Amino acid sequence: MRALTVRPGIKDSLAIDDLPEPPESDGPVLVESLAVGLCGTDVEIVAADYGEAPPDADVLVLGHENLGKVASAPAGSDLAPGDFVVGIVRRPDPEPCRACAGGEWDMCRNGLYTEHGIKGLHGFARERWRAQPDAVVKVDPKLRDVGVLLEPTTIVAKGWEQIERIGARAFFEPKVVAVTGAGPVGLLAALLGVQRGLDVHVFDRVTAGLKPDLVADLGATYHSTSLPDSGVRPDIVIECTGVPAVVVDVITHSATDGVVCLAGISPVGATVPVDIGAINRMAVLQNDVVFGTVNANRRHYEAGAAALAAADQAWLSRLITRRVALDDFTDAFDRRSDDVKVVLDIKK
Ligand SMILES: [Zn+2]
Ligand SMILES: [Zn+2]
Repeated sequence: MRALTVRPGIKDSLAIDDLPEPPESDGPVLVESLAVGLCGTDVEIVAADYGEAPPDADVLVLGHENLGKVASAPAGSDLAPGDFVVGIVRRPDPEPCRACAGGEWDMCRNGLYTEHGIKGLHGFARERWRAQPDAVVKVDPKLRDVGVLLEPTTIVAKGWEQIERIGARAFFEPKVVAVTGAGPVGLLAALLGVQRGLDVHVFDRVTAGLKPDLVADLGATYHSTSLPDSGVRPDIVIECTGVPAVVVDVITHSATDGVVCLAGISPVGATVPVDIGAINRMAVLQNDVVFGTVNANRRHYEAGAAALAAADQAWLSRLITRRVALDDFTDAFDRRSDDVKVVLDIKK
């Protein structure tokens, strides 16, 4: 079968390989792959900054954001042929640590977890894959075109869950949300904010085009200014850019009792002058919380699937700006300014 692979550690080694069918030892559920979404993590793997092949392989099949259709499943598994499913990216470490043992592999303590298409497990950019029944999440058939957005949605579903758990520490009546970055993760974070009935403000650099339109059509407010310049004082911030100056802006401009969720990964080595005393003073005197979040467990996949099913399907499909045939992967990785989410169509 065809698969999109890289040789970890070798830059630009992306290729279509002919691989054997997935072994039955991978699990009793056989899934026909439909779509794989691409993101910055894939770009980093192609650049050989990242990525680890399975122990018995010298290539890594790429692709963690995924959607597939069950071809066969064991009786009694609550999965049936034709079901639309998404494979859970991270799997618990073999030890397992107490977080993984409790099903919270997104909070893994020892770093020995594996991740499909990233770390030690083949990804989903191949014609077929196999899994254990508990390693996939069934999605509503109406998500057949947009279910590939579930994995990035799980990241913000976890972020929102953590925000609400932190908020529950004391009086919490959030009204205003700021999301920095109008890429797929930022737009999905904004969607979940709107679904909660909050006043959502999205910040990005672009001044025209699809991103401002998508924000407006969601019923949120778009800003091409910075958060400090906008005058918005958010009760909740979800930072999705990782840009150091934006990170400083959000941790210094939340409202009293504010919760700031950091979900964007920054480059290392850029320095920004900050008055750490002023930041500390404000955090203490305003009961501020700043926290980081990564990855997702089954609970977040289920919350994300419910959020996508409740959303306007036409709006979701506009997030997928290009669908590229697997064989045209070079084109898919050729980043264009108007791209939001680029998806590989595995069936084409
Ligand atoms: Zn991704
Ligand atoms: Zn663990």
